[in-house]
Amino acid sequence: CAKKEGGNTQRYFDVQMLKDFNARHALENDLRHALENNELKLYYQPLVGLSDGRVNGFEALMRWDSPTRGLVSPADFIPLAEETGLIRSIGAWALKRACLDAADWREDVGVSVNISACQFRDQSILLDVAAALGVSNLRPSRLELEITESVMLYNTEDTIAILEKLRHIGVKIAMDDFGTGYSSLAYLTKFAFDKVKIDRAFVKGVAENPDCLAIIRAITGLCESLNIPTTAEGVETEDQLQWLRAERCDSVQGYLLGRPKPLEAVEKILACDGKREAVA
Ligand code: C2E
Ligand code: MG
Ligand code: MG
Ligand code: MG
Repeated sequence: CAKKEGGNTQRYFDVQMLKDFNARHALENDLRHALENNELKLYYQPLVGLSDGRVNGFEALMRWDSPTRGLVSPADFIPLAEETGLIRSIGAWALKRACLDAADWREDVGVSVNISACQFRDQSILLDVAAALGVSNLRPSRLELEITESVMLYNTEDTIAILEKLRHIGVKIAMDDFGTGYSSLAYLTKFAFDKVKIDRAFVKGVAENPDCLAIIRAITGLCESLNIPTTAEGVETEDQLQWLRAERCDSVQGYLLGRPKPLEAVEKILACDGKREAVA
């Protein structure tokens, strides 16, 4: 997935560039060893249904627990993993780990795994998904893959063919960060997504910015006509939750409902699930 610098961009070599280059190189080197050294972890954040207030799934969010750098956020290493191709082994690991973890949860609780566009460039995603389901024995419909519009942007025909095969296996496909990319609306007609996740940029402003509310209303209206359930991301306040309920979002996810936490927390969350009055 390495991207080449296009055109005749002329660059001048200076001290800052050298520092950046060295830092990037060191990060890449450390990341190469992160997987084999067991430094990658999956954190889990609950998705809560608005009709019954119960947890219906967890999103797996990767963390890199580096002995020298501390806890590194995916925003700081996923792009590099994509550029270097490391995402293929890291992504396969995440699928397997998430399926193995979810196999121990309540039957009606699924797991969502984020998939990078690069993982769609060849058929490897199919093999990785099959391997993860095989080793974990997880019912395929309990696995949901979250893809962004960037996946659809590149070679749409081939991508849709892969999505259809994944669908055939029985896994669910969610459109992540909806509303932030390009020509979002058209993609929804090209493949029957199982879920649309409304980007948290719109949720953030839903209570005070009429534009955000208008966009959320448009997305939920469209998804309702297309029969696609919606999840609102990044719900932080009670106020936002009430607005999203009024706009008939199907489920919610965000710090208000629970932050991403290590696997150990999942059991505790499920043990007291349905007893929280905040949501239902
Ligand atoms: P995403 O898939 O859209 O995940 C949601 C992000 O929003 C997560 O950031 C989550 O921690 C954060 N979040 C959740 N609730 C709230 C909230 O109420 N307020 C705010 N401000 N943020 C909230 P995180 O964990 O840093 O992940 C960032 C992105 O990295 C993800 O965005 C996803 O695109 C990517 N990513 C994470 N794990 C993986 C992975 O295993 N594979 C790939 N390819 N990408 C991953
Ligand atoms: Mg996601
Ligand atoms: Mg998202
Ligand atoms: Mg995102």
